Amino acid sequence: MSLEEYKGVFIFAQQVDNELSGIALELLGKAKDLAKDLDEKKVTAVLLGSDVKGLVDKLAEYGADRVIVVDDPALKDYRTEPYTHALASVINEYKPEILLVGATAIGRDLGPRVSSRVHTGLTADCTQLEIGDFPLEPVAGREQKHKQLLMTRPAFGGNTIATIACPDFRPQMATVRPGVMQKIEPVKGAKAEVVDYNPGFEENNCYTEILKIVKETSSVADIQAAKILVSGGRGVGSPENFKLLDDLAEVLNGTVSCSRAVVDSGWKPKDLQVGQTGKTVRPQLYFAIGISGAIQHVAGMEESDIIIAINKDENAPIFDVADYGVVGDLNKVVPALTKKIKEALAAKG
Ligand SMILES: Cc1cc2nc3c(=O)[nH]c(=O)nc-3n(C[C@H](O)[C@H](O)[C@H](O)COP(=O)(O)OP(=O)(O)OC[C@H]3O[C@@H](n4cnc5c(N)ncnc54)[C@H](O)[C@@H]3O)c2cc1C
Repeated sequence: MSLEEYKGVFIFAQQVDNELSGIALELLGKAKDLAKDLDEKKVTAVLLGSDVKGLVDKLAEYGADRVIVVDDPALKDYRTEPYTHALASVINEYKPEILLVGATAIGRDLGPRVSSRVHTGLTADCTQLEIGDFPLEPVAGREQKHKQLLMTRPAFGGNTIATIACPDFRPQMATVRPGVMQKIEPVKGAKAEVVDYNPGFEENNCYTEILKIVKETSSVADIQAAKILVSGGRGVGSPENFKLLDDLAEVLNGTVSCSRAVVDSGWKPKDLQVGQTGKTVRPQLYFAIGISGAIQHVAGMEESDIIIAINKDENAPIFDVADYGVVGDLNKVVPALTKKIKEALAAKG
């Protein structure tokens, strides 16, 4: 493999039912930063699907300079084999230096398959991506390579943070969970160069046949879209006592979320879990109520604009990341806070 042949930052632009997934736009935001640090002029989005050309302009508005479109009926609904064939073929043809994929259900299936097929490495669930030297510090007798993709992720159950590189193979591949990277402000009317490419699809025994798609409609709030989150932990004490948090969320027009302990206890559904094995959130305001602040929880909410912690233990680690903290019993503090906010809103009219 001649590493020099591999150039440019690519992202997999996931779409489902001909609608771009938010992660595609978030990855474009990060890809722009990486391209700048590599002195690359172009960010490329790879769009796979059937009849998907209508999505190109949106990708351009969110930062794609070029969109490689593989449009084929074989790609109508996600299936592992044709998507792997398509993306691996794009890599072999266009030789990206970096390829970012969303750590969604689709990306978690597709990314490792593709990396294995093109014989490179993949770092899953990265929380930080940057360009730098590898090894990070010079090591006697070992070449230090420059301008490598440094992929950082929690390791060993979140007890340490590992920075991983892929210095000897290309592309350098990483998956990133939704909500970790930030979209750019869209540039209305921006246009991208469109490249049509089709490697040809031949049904073989690795192709699955989709007999029926059953869509589940979720009745649970999308905590990643919420501007205000009122999050509760084991300290709330019972599912019934979450009523206190519902009341606070209601006056603030916020959404209730929770820690893993709450999900494990069966008090709330997994879709509301914040953290390393839940969702990464970035609201303007995050209340952590009866949450101790374990590293795996903090990993999912520390980028919130303002964090307010309510905990009866003044030494709880949540206070280390909180902007404001109240040491006290949530059963007293939360209703009092809700009452005060209600009064203040009523006084404002
Ligand atoms: C691989 C791995 C992945 C994980 N992923 C996640 C994840 O995605 N998200 C996540 O949240 N956790 C995750 N965890 C679990 C995490 O380590 C913690 O166990 C969990 O976050 C604890 O939840 P908690 O803070 O609600 O409960 P606890 O740690 O039990 O904390 C309860 C807190 O409530 C306070 N409290 C109790 N009563 C009151 C009261 N009346 N008033 C005020 N405060 C009160 C206590 O002082 C305490 O600080 C993961 C763990 C592992 C090993």
